[in-house]
Amino acid sequence: AIVPPQDVDADLKPRPAVVTVMGHVDHGKTSVLDALRKTEVVRGEAGGITQHIGAYQVTTDNGQKITFLDTPGHAAFTSMRSRGAKVTDIVVLVVAADDSVMPQTVEAIHHAQAAGAPIIIAVNKIDKPDADPSRVKQDLLQHNIVVEEMGGEQLVVEISALKGTNLDSLVETIVLQAELMDLKANPDRTANGTVIEAQLEQGRGAVATVLVQGGTLKVGDIFVSGATWGRVRALVDEHGARLDAAEPSRPVEVLGYQDAPSAGDDFIVVDSESRAREVAEVRARRMKNHLASQGGR
Ligand code: GDP
Repeated sequence: AIVPPQDVDADLKPRPAVVTVMGHVDHGKTSVLDALRKTEVVRGEAGGITQHIGAYQVTTDNGQKITFLDTPGHAAFTSMRSRGAKVTDIVVLVVAADDSVMPQTVEAIHHAQAAGAPIIIAVNKIDKPDADPSRVKQDLLQHNIVVEEMGGEQLVVEISALKGTNLDSLVETIVLQAELMDLKANPDRTANGTVIEAQLEQGRGAVATVLVQGGTLKVGDIFVSGATWGRVRALVDEHGARLDAAEPSRPVEVLGYQDAPSAGDDFIVVDSESRAREVAEVRARRMKNHLASQGGR
């Protein structure tokens, strides 16, 4: 087995928070992610055409960075968690002010709690005439989520993703929560991370969005990832720009995979191609045997 290098405290440096947006269907997850991404695009990225890469990083007015995982599906979150991949630091739970707490809201609360990720409540759609944020806060009480005005400590922001209301407060609240967590990683070593999503693309081959969690990933690095391996041919950010390197908490498209990995697979830089090939082959064989034993039952 291969494991990422152990870090000592002295090597750790601050890293951006990784945030997942969750919530009941139609409560506005996609709208929140889009609204937050647009603020960034307006800040002057060339062309402003963002491609979908499964995650993106924004820079706040104070220069702080936040990474958003653009996979607002509980399925992706669950599959990663069940495979032991801890990717998210903070969960933003979107609850529509006109609909309040719904089954997938509760499910998301359970996911976040099980993952040990603090929750920030974003009461969305406050622009709607029938919006009732107080009811949302009341309903959340049943799930042990107590907001400040009810004597608790739960961070909550009332927003309208549609009108762009209070999105800056949401960002500030995320930054505040992140500061409380004192998130750190060692950027000065070979990289490891987790696959957020992957696919085969015509003309580009197997492509994966990888969240770098430790170390710095560089073009030319050789890696093992799930049951496959590769050599980094190019690193591409959410704006389509090529990067020379990717530091902790940076999501980046990795080109150079031999085969497509799966979401939730690990990603570890190793020192040689022979080592990468060997580890990937052992893992592939083990996976095949596992599938065969399941099928034979
Ligand atoms: P998701 O399923 O949670 O990703 O929800 P979407 O982001 O797709 O939003 C569902 C619907 O709610 C869409 O029609 C959005 O335009 C609408 N919506 C999202 N946010 C707001 C908001 O702040 N105000 C209003 N009025 N509508 C919103």
